[in-house]
Amino acid sequence: MDGHTLLPREVPLGGPRGLLVRRTLPHRAIRTIGTWCFADHYGPVAGEPMVVAPHPHLGLQTASWLLAGRIEHRDSVGGRATVRPGELSLMTAGHGIAHSEYSDGGPLLGVQLWIALPDAHRGQAPHFEHHADLPRVDLGAARGTLLLGSWAGATSPAAAYAPIVGVEIVLTGTARLPLDRGFEHGVLVADGDAAVDGQPVPFGGLRYLPPGREAATVSSAGGAVLLLLGGQPLAEDLLMWWNFVGRDHEEILRAREDWEAGRRFGAVVGDGRPGIPAPPLPAVRMLPRPNRP
Ligand code: MN
Repeated sequence: MDGHTLLPREVPLGGPRGLLVRRTLPHRAIRTIGTWCFADHYGPVAGEPMVVAPHPHLGLQTASWLLAGRIEHRDSVGGRATVRPGELSLMTAGHGIAHSEYSDGGPLLGVQLWIALPDAHRGQAPHFEHHADLPRVDLGAARGTLLLGSWAGATSPAAAYAPIVGVEIVLTGTARLPLDRGFEHGVLVADGDAAVDGQPVPFGGLRYLPPGREAATVSSAGGAVLLLLGGQPLAEDLLMWWNFVGRDHEEILRAREDWEAGRRFGAVVGDGRPGIPAPPLPAVRMLPRPNRP
């Protein structure tokens, strides 16, 4: 079967001594899947808290999804939520927002996903939403919870700005997952062991499926939790730098200057910690990356 397995690389989150996460997007071979442009998978850990002090975002949505544990989210538009398993925290950064995320040191297993906002929607005002009651789909050995978009007859209430799908799938055997032929997809193994179209995918790995597929067969011997991420291939080239998703060097430069000067992004409500300083800009002029090299 056609497809490509993306292996994760380990990256420290929020600084060199931060929690280690496994990153599959962006990947050298595949930069985005639809508008999904960033995928970090972390845990299982205990006693090693996630500490991400106030920092800015631009031009994207962040989706926090947990399989175990809890994280406190606060942001500069007054959004506040405890992220729990089965509940979606979705922050739309638009033209700029700041937020912080802290776990309590208890067991933690989850993902942080970024969704690029298409050019027509990236200038919007920032907002935050938390969804505790998402639609569920029962396909026998696969039980799905809709994070974003529509799948198998169900639709998520979360705000989406491009043709996209995001589903958590609890897998207890073999199942056929319906796919949208116009979408490309990725299947991330968030827990347990799984194979996609008969190809084993390691814990934290992501199986990429190009457009044109009507279904994928997934199976697990001991049980697994998968994330199905998909969307219409993005026709825009992105410039991703630090926490910003932009289009050109000047835009990123202005956003960096605004964060350093305390402008635009606002202060995280109820969080007195100092913000994370922006890293230095590279010495060379940054260019958007071709989305399909
Ligand atoms: Mn963030």
